[in-house]
Amino acid sequence: MANSVIETPVLVVGGGPVGLALAADLGARGIECLIIEQSDGVIYHPRATALNARTMELLRRRGVAERVKRDGTPPDFPHTALYLTGLKGYEIARIERPSHGGTKPSPISPERPQRCNQLFLDPILRDLVTSQPAVTLRYRCRFESLVEEGDKVVVTVRDLATDEQQRIVANYVADCSGSHSPIRRAFGIRMSGQTEPEYHLSVFMRLPELWNYHDKGKAALIFFVDEKGSWRNLVMIDGRDLYRFAISGKAFYDNPDAVDVEKYFNEVADPAIPRQVLSVIRWSACDVVAEQYRVGRVLLAGDAAHQNHPSGGFGLNTGMGDIDNLGWKLAAMVKGWGASGLLDSYEIERRPVGLRNIKQAYSGHADNRDRPTHPDIAKDTPDGARARARMKEQILASQPAMVLTDGTALGYRYDPSPIVWPDGTKAPEDTISAYQPTARPGSRAPHAWIAEGRSTIDLLGGDFVLLRLGDDVPDSGAIEAAFRQRQIPLQTVPIANPEIARLYEKKLVLARPDGHVAWRSDKLPDNPMTLADCVRGALS
Ligand SMILES: Cc1cc2nc3c(=O)[nH]c(=O)nc-3n(C[C@H](O)[C@H](O)[C@H](O)COP(=O)(O)OP(=O)(O)OC[C@H]3O[C@@H](n4cnc5c(N)ncnc54)[C@H](O)[C@@H]3O)c2cc1C
Repeated sequence: MANSVIETPVLVVGGGPVGLALAADLGARGIECLIIEQSDGVIYHPRATALNARTMELLRRRGVAERVKRDGTPPDFPHTALYLTGLKGYEIARIERPSHGGTKPSPISPERPQRCNQLFLDPILRDLVTSQPAVTLRYRCRFESLVEEGDKVVVTVRDLATDEQQRIVANYVADCSGSHSPIRRAFGIRMSGQTEPEYHLSVFMRLPELWNYHDKGKAALIFFVDEKGSWRNLVMIDGRDLYRFAISGKAFYDNPDAVDVEKYFNEVADPAIPRQVLSVIRWSACDVVAEQYRVGRVLLAGDAAHQNHPSGGFGLNTGMGDIDNLGWKLAAMVKGWGASGLLDSYEIERRPVGLRNIKQAYSGHADNRDRPTHPDIAKDTPDGARARARMKEQILASQPAMVLTDGTALGYRYDPSPIVWPDGTKAPEDTISAYQPTARPGSRAPHAWIAEGRSTIDLLGGDFVLLRLGDDVPDSGAIEAAFRQRQIPLQTVPIANPEIARLYEKKLVLARPDGHVAWRSDKLPDNPMTLADCVRGALS
């Protein structure tokens, strides 16, 4: 082992999108951190594409949303989901998603859901991370083991270029090492949920201007249905010529080299379609959540903490929500104003969101997988026509909840939470597709335009922010003094606009550094120091 010992306040293990985004968040908060990734950082095969509005808001906060839109799918490419018997076969159902993509203003967010595959997103995040002086990114560096010693975590890694072992001593370790997390396994943390894996082949293809070779128009997702069910789909990757063709089944997974992927593609597409197969990988998926998100100074985020079927696009987005919650808490611990309850609150707040999102991902996927089909589904017979009409009804009754997920993206809330001060109001219904704006404590502070191109969301995401809304707002000096005394960074922002005051419902609204509301009221709390101690995790 090399003698050098590297010390860092935070070690992030895993340089996938979640680890990179966490490092970027820490870097933006001025927290030194080291991020290690075993690979060379190049993405060879596409995975996540769908970025929800909340992920886009987080990318906007870090100044890269415009590049994501530029490098991702062109704004005029529709995010339509199609259910077909074949590209030249029958259209069974169609779900349009006019609120996705493009640049038109949205009433619920300054950003719209976008498509930007990890092929393009990961380099954007990497550039962001490497532009931050506080962050060091090391590729070809593999985590091997860790041990907690007092108030430190001692980590052994291997430099894959020199094959040397090295020690890293960190105050905190963020495990962003994905579904096969060696850290989660070392701790013996179990995953619960739908643990029985399902098996797939993923075929990365170049299909230039595919839409010119059939009559169904441009679409982001195409699910193919035949007499065996729905076991093949085609996902648009870049809105130009890249696609991922997925084939589900254990037999394919077990022996991928023997699978004639072009044959399976030609069954649903015209054999004359020009194509190039770029790569084929096999992968398996479960819908599971870790039973623990934290062991002492080690915290799990992203696929290390939860995994799901990708159809609804929940995986990466849920991971981005994790790091939004975790970044400021780690920063507070390193800076010294965070109390021990702050780190406890990470699992308390995020695990229920993981369970909620994974349940939604599973139900959408299972519904698609288990929908009964018919021997004539692709045939020009009266039975076939009836079967397609029946299936259309079933698809339209359930699948919008898989592809229209603003409620899931923006409506998650931390309730109950030891660091949120409830105000006794009733929570709006938590639905998958419809997001209902609310500033109720625990919720994401809602979006409203405060000026041309500037949203309330743009005020948040750094320090705590005390919004003073409308007129006749009580003097909030005592809150500011309490936060000062506890060294909690706080900014006070007046918003006179009466419409925004009505949306937020109270005159004083305290937003956390992740943009979720911690407290709101028309008057000061009896003891502002208790509020300061609550939000920094000192009361639990
Ligand atoms: C086919 C497919 C399609 C998907 N589509 C979507 C979608 O549209 N939307 C969505 O939200 N999600 C989607 N997902 C899920 C999404 O890809 C994952 O949720 C996301 O990549 C998780 O990011 P992560 O950073 O947590 O983990 P990963 O991306 O898995 O990154 C973990 C990193 O840790 C590294 N690592 C592992 N072990 C070590 C070690 N010992 N030392 C150092 N480094 C290590 C790995 O090399 C890897 O780079 C899809 C997944 C698949 C498979």
